[in-house]
Amino acid sequence: MIKVRVPAKVNVQLGVGGLRADGFHDLANVFFAVALGDEVTAEPGEGVTLTCSGPDAASVPLDDSNLAARAARLLAAHHGFTPNVRLHIAKAIPVAGGMAGGSADGAAALVACDALWGLDTPFETLLELAAELGSDVPFALVGGVALGRGRGEILQPLPVSGAFHWVFAVADGGLSTPAVFRECDRLREEAGTGSSEADVPTPDADPALLAALADGDPVALAAALTNDLQAPAISLRPALADTLRAGTEAGAIGALVSGSGPTCAFLAKDAEAAAAIAKSLEASGTCRAAHATYGPVPGARVH
Ligand code: ATP
Repeated sequence: MIKVRVPAKVNVQLGVGGLRADGFHDLANVFFAVALGDEVTAEPGEGVTLTCSGPDAASVPLDDSNLAARAARLLAAHHGFTPNVRLHIAKAIPVAGGMAGGSADGAAALVACDALWGLDTPFETLLELAAELGSDVPFALVGGVALGRGRGEILQPLPVSGAFHWVFAVADGGLSTPAVFRECDRLREEAGTGSSEADVPTPDADPALLAALADGDPVALAAALTNDLQAPAISLRPALADTLRAGTEAGAIGALVSGSGPTCAFLAKDAEAAAAIAKSLEASGTCRAAHATYGPVPGARVH
């Protein structure tokens, strides 16, 4: 049996450009991999079968739409054989939570099946297959901290010093990523700025944010956190403003919605502060659960 651990991500910067003719948005996306993650196991089976455990297991699709199953099929098709594997996802990443949990499982299944089937696929090829599965999948293979351009799939690893301490407040129910992008466009139209590529400047990585990461400076990173999807996520789920406020009042030095939400991410000055913030958030009644964790950590790896 092969076991693969894979991290969730938080976007420490998520700059969203205008709506492109192909329906996507250009992004300046700084991904940060955190120790909160899923475990995917692969063992010999007949065809591709999938099971899932964990508090959110009931909302994970177990059919061929699951990114882990799609990854197994894609890898086998690339090598020209019919896949046989029994996959299990031990799910800790909130589902539809803006932490790329499905993408993480896709990356983990690529690595697990590659090891189970003894394929030794070059990492560059795994990255290409990952990009075919979805724009957030390559980052889950790479891990660490990386700047994603295009739809997020063109990755440049970024230098980081030390560890940063985070708390994630999990909401009840998910938010659909496409719905949050649509709300972003709608709010831009409503504000009169326009939402097309011609109206919105192409986003770029913030030099202050990159310096904060390289220096390992949590206070500077906290000041530089930005997410263009935060306002649309709060517009669709106004209670998220209460969660952000509760974390800040509990001592977080930075707070933002993670990706398309509804998970909220809080930066703490150290591990002790993170544990205290998680406890306060759970007591505040503004989230379903809160987890203290840290990062950056590597991408999907056999362990
Ligand atoms: P992102 O941050 O990449 O936008 P997300 O974290 O908000 O994603 P996911 O947890 O990846 O959202 O799930 C989004 C949807 O993808 C789910 O509602 C589910 O229907 C589908 N899905 C496919 N495969 C998986 C998987 N392995 N785990 C969870 N959801 C999956």
